Amino acid sequence: MENGSNSYDGPVLECRDLCISYFTRAGEIAGRFNTSMVYISHNLGLILATCDRVNVMYSGVVVEHGSVHEVFDHMRHPYTKGLFGCIPLPGADKTARPLVPIRGQLPLPHQRPAGCYFGPRCDFFQAGSCDQEGLHMTEVPNEPGHSVRCRRWQQIDWDSYNPEGVGASEMEAGEVVLSIDNMKKYYEVTDNSIAAMIKGKRVRHVKANESISFDARACETVAIVGESGCGKSTFAKVLMGLETATEGKVVFNGKDISQEEVQNRSPEQIGSMQMVFQNPFDTLNPSHTVGSQLARVIRKFGVHTDKEKVEARVMELLDLVKLPREFARRRPRQLSGGQKQRVGIARAFAGNPSTVVADEPVSALDVSVQAAVTG
Ligand code: SF4
Repeated sequence: MENGSNSYDGPVLECRDLCISYFTRAGEIAGRFNTSMVYISHNLGLILATCDRVNVMYSGVVVEHGSVHEVFDHMRHPYTKGLFGCIPLPGADKTARPLVPIRGQLPLPHQRPAGCYFGPRCDFFQAGSCDQEGLHMTEVPNEPGHSVRCRRWQQIDWDSYNPEGVGASEMEAGEVVLSIDNMKKYYEVTDNSIAAMIKGKRVRHVKANESISFDARACETVAIVGESGCGKSTFAKVLMGLETATEGKVVFNGKDISQEEVQNRSPEQIGSMQMVFQNPFDTLNPSHTVGSQLARVIRKFGVHTDKEKVEARVMELLDLVKLPREFARRRPRQLSGGQKQRVGIARAFAGNPSTVVADEPVSALDVSVQAAVTG
């Protein structure tokens, strides 16, 4: 391991909790063993907390390189600037500072434009300059090691530039759709220890959820946060009917569903509450195209039956999650993990549900798509 090099790719970074402290510790250990580490991630906070230098990649090429301090505090590429408009800042008001996804989509490898690949999405694109071939990295003066692949970076007023993305409009919260009242979920476990046998208390209860109560209204997003093992996933299972509650009520669209397993729920109830799973790999049918899987949900839950309207809705959903429309013809094996997750999100919304339960829904997505999906 001495003088070695370690590479950590995205999936490692999708751990829910404490990943920054974990990687800080990994960095300390690497320092002791004189090892270089390469983190591959779209988690800008993690990079800021743990890395020394950073390469910002766009469509197959590095567009900015430098120390983390230079690139994060004095970025000189419009794409890098755009990335920072996509991430939530602690304490920021989501209305005053909405997440601004970078407009447009990452070009497919065979559809990259001439000249600057970021050109079609850039606020500073200039025909005749940015669309010319031979765009190389250039050094930023007085900042050794900081370089950028942009023809116009010196003409941009970086202090006043705020990316012109497509922001989300503020929504007014509506009626209560989901009301959780003192919901508990306990599991019975058998204690086979001699002490339990002597005491005659072999059955114990593991209290996965204790007394959860809250309301969720239409157009409102309610977060459930906590470390692994705190009961978040158990709660989601009760909502979806994969488990039943031990006590309390789960009133959804006016009906208590706390004791209704998914197989006993009506098609309307199932269609009205959809789930986005953390792992997109197991939830898509490998034999069917993306378009047919979305179309099936649209028809099944009665959103549209007319062929043209179904196709239009499929395209609308792909636009929503920033996937190229031609992906409707692709099968899941032709998609990356992040692209599959976007299909999973599109599918959850395909049936016009009144509630979507999302378990770490955007951990696999890059920050611009996270901003587009959550904004
Ligand atoms: S080269 Fe032109 S299009 Fe590309 S990032 Fe710079 S200003 Fe924008």
